[in-house]
Amino acid sequence: MKICLENVTKIFAKSGKNGQEVKAVDDFNLVIPDGELIGLLGPSGCGKSTTLNMLCGLEEPSLGKIYFGDEDVTNMPPELRQVGMVFQNYALYPHLSVRKNILFPLENLKKEKKLSKKEMEDRLNNVANLVQISDLLERKPKELSGGQQQRVAIARALVKMPNVLLLDEPLSNLDARLRLNTREEIRKIQRATKITTIFVTHDQEEAMSISDQIVVMKDGKIQQVGRPQEVYDNPINLFVAKFLGNPPINVFEGKIIDGGLYILNQKVLDGYKINNQDVIVAIRPEGFIVDDNGSFIANKQSLEVMGREISVVANNDACVTKTFRALVQGEDIAKLAKEDIHFKLKRNKVFIFDKVDERRLNDE
Ligand code: ADP
Ligand code: MG
Repeated sequence: MKICLENVTKIFAKSGKNGQEVKAVDDFNLVIPDGELIGLLGPSGCGKSTTLNMLCGLEEPSLGKIYFGDEDVTNMPPELRQVGMVFQNYALYPHLSVRKNILFPLENLKKEKKLSKKEMEDRLNNVANLVQISDLLERKPKELSGGQQQRVAIARALVKMPNVLLLDEPLSNLDARLRLNTREEIRKIQRATKITTIFVTHDQEEAMSISDQIVVMKDGKIQQVGRPQEVYDNPINLFVAKFLGNPPINVFEGKIIDGGLYILNQKVLDGYKINNQDVIVAIRPEGFIVDDNGSFIANKQSLEVMGREISVVANNDACVTKTFRALVQGEDIAKLAKEDIHFKLKRNKVFIFDKVDERRLNDE
C-alpha cells in the first residue's frame, strides 16, 4: 500500500497554566512507495510517535491529508484503516496466553469481516510460524523473554493482515544482542510479507541497517529523505551529518579563501566553488589518511587499536569539541609514534556547511 502524507501538521493545544502550544509535526510531506520499509529517525521529542499515531488514526492531524493508496484516510477511525501497530512496551495482555493475545484482534472483527474458527486458527499458525513462536502459544507473556514478547506483539499486529505496519521503537527494551537479532528478523518478515512498513527509532545505526529509505526528523520537520548510504554520503545540513555515523562526524571551524579550504591557516583541500567565508567543516572519522605530507595537523591524545583499524583520538584548536576521532588502517601504527600527526583528507568525506544556517554548501 502506497502511503502519502501531504502538509501533515499536528499542533497540541496548550496544557496547564503556563502551557505552550506544541507543534509536534510541522508540514510533513512524504510519499512512501508500496512495499518499502521506511526508517523514521530523529532525537527524542522530534515528532516520530505523533506521526505514527496520525497514520494509525490515534491522533487527528491539525492540518494536511493522509492517503493510503488513493483513499483519503485523514479522518478514518483506526479500526477501519487496516494498520498493524507495534509499540515499544509490547502492550500484551498479561492474563491471556500467547495464542489468545494473537487471536484477540480477530475475535473482535464485526459482521462481514468475522472469520470462522478454522480461518482464525490458520492465520494464527501462519504468523506464529513467521515470527517463530509456534512452540510458545500456550505460555503467558510473563513466561517469555523480552525478544519473544516483542515477536508476539509483531505477530498480533500481522494477524489482521494489515496493509500497513507501524513499529514505534520496537527494539528499545531489548538488550544489545537481542536487538540485533530482532531487527534482522523484522527485516526478514517485512521482505516476506511485503507490507509497507514504517519503523521508528532514535538509533541511527538501527535505521540505517534495516531501512530501504530513512527519513531524518528534527523539531517536527523532515530534514532529509533518502537511501541510507545516500544520506550518509550527502547530508543536507550539519544536523543530519552529525546524526548519522558512529563514531560521529568530527566538526571544525574553517575558512574558504579563493577556493581553498583552510583549517588553522593550513590549506587542507582545494578547488571549491564556494565564496570566501568562514565555514563549518565536518570530517567523517574514515576521512583521514596518515601522511607526513598532509597539511591537517593534530595533536595525538591516545590510540585505540582495534585490530583491523586504529582509532586515533586527537585534538587541534579548530575542533569544536575537545577531541576528535580518526579511523585509520591498522598497518599505519608505525606512523603514529609521533606527538603531532599529519593527515591528508579524503575529499568525499569532508562536508562544508554555512556558518549561520548550517546548510551544506555545494562544493562542486
Ligand atoms: P518522539 O516520538 O519523536 O519522541 P513525540 O511525537 O512523542 O516525539 O512528541 C513530539 C512533541 O510533541 C514533544 O514535544 C511532545 O512533548 C509533544 N507531545 C506529544 N504528545 C503530546 C500530547 N498528547 N499533548 C501535548 N504535547 C504532546
Ligand atoms: Mg516516541
